[in-house]
Amino acid sequence: MHEFGHSFGGLADEYFYESEDNGFYPLDVEPWEPNITTKVDFKSKWEDMVDGKSEVGLYEGGGCMVKGVYRPVPTCRMRDNDHPVFCPVCERALSRVIEFYTR
Ligand SMILES: [Zn+2]
Repeated sequence: MHEFGHSFGGLADEYFYESEDNGFYPLDVEPWEPNITTKVDFKSKWEDMVDGKSEVGLYEGGGCMVKGVYRPVPTCRMRDNDHPVFCPVCERALSRVIEFYTR
């Protein structure tokens, strides 16, 4: 399901390893993937889903980078293959792809 998230939803990895920050994302550019942000254009991402009631927020570490890239929740299927579900931000991104192809 994790790999499906990449191929179907264009989702980024939400994981990272302290010892392997790959510097993949330039921090002055907003990544195109819907589930990570450098906060350059957070409005275009899940800012509208941060309400203080759910755990959706900004958690540093994602896209295989320790610093400067943020993910929406502590744990999502895009972070951990043992996690049973996608986070709300990934769910919305997947739904948008489905709507794009069916409406
Ligand atoms: Zn996610």
